[in-house]
Amino acid sequence: MTTEPAFSQNVTVLGLGAMGTAIASAFLDAGHHTTVWNRTSAKADGLVQKGGLKAASLADAVGASPLIVVCVSDYAAVEGLLDSVEDFDQRTLVNVTSGGAAAARELEAWVQQRNGRYLDGAILAMTSEIGPDQSGMVLVSGDASSWTENEKTLAALGGGLKYLGSNVALAGLHDLAGLAVTWSVLNAFMHAAALFESVGESPKSMVPLIEDTLKSAASWLPGYADQIESGDIAPDGDIAGTLQAMENLLEESVAAGINTDLPKFLRGLAAQAVDAGDGGKGYPALIHQLRKPSVAAAH
Ligand code: NAP
Repeated sequence: MTTEPAFSQNVTVLGLGAMGTAIASAFLDAGHHTTVWNRTSAKADGLVQKGGLKAASLADAVGASPLIVVCVSDYAAVEGLLDSVEDFDQRTLVNVTSGGAAAARELEAWVQQRNGRYLDGAILAMTSEIGPDQSGMVLVSGDASSWTENEKTLAALGGGLKYLGSNVALAGLHDLAGLAVTWSVLNAFMHAAALFESVGESPKSMVPLIEDTLKSAASWLPGYADQIESGDIAPDGDIAGTLQAMENLLEESVAAGINTDLPKFLRGLAAQAVDAGDGGKGYPALIHQLRKPSVAAAH
């Protein structure tokens, strides 16, 4: 279903890969005058059939709109493709290419030096979840006035659009934090599945316990975040006792003949905490170890 536009703005989309095409399509569905450009120009043809305007050059694409959304493979590609733009003339560049905090800060400075305004974005959604009637999560951080001016236009991307604040690092960091937690949970699940297989049992049998465990762990997070921020770590914890349970996990993994990297990592971190005098403290005391560079390189 196409949403009737409450208003229509000029917007440019640079980069028409899978996600850039979904973004341009979303702006068209919302009724915006959408100019598109891609290094391989034939990729714009489908969008032209939908009503998009194919810019003859990158300079034309940038000049066509006060709001420019760029979505390419990585930040180096963003800077490379925009290198010829000497003056953004106060246009807003929204970069939804995936990346981290340092890259976002660097690109913000780079755009500001060229008289532009910058918003960093992170897309936590699949292409099918991008659109005015979709709920895909798109996180944005950076220049507050640019956000205020463009929020209504960017709403075409989906109901999960959210502004996180003026610190440009926030969008990419939220993306990476969510991915890190997801990967960590999934890796631990796979490791446990290998243990279950080693005794001839189906990994399915542990799923209800793991689901309950994740719910409990999720309920601890607000309190843990308070302790980390205040520095007031619970003094009546038992990291030393937890270390023994981690030894058990490692022994079990060795005996099962499966990969031991995960239990070794868990044990190593807890052992560092105990060595540092945090053995009797609550689990958030591990932050003292994680704030420092790694003792040994991972590879
Ligand atoms: P993609 O389909 O591989 O498209 C890559 C795009 O980058 C193409 O338009 C390509 O142009 C362009 N590009 C690459 N290097 C370039 C360069 N040096 N100069 C100019 N253009 C260059 O990738 P995608 O799936 O759209 O992903 C784009 C971004 O969205 C990534 O950061 C990705 O992490 C993020 N994202 C994607 C999804 C998803 O479901 N696809 C989900 C969340 C986030 P050509 O066509 O000329 O090669």
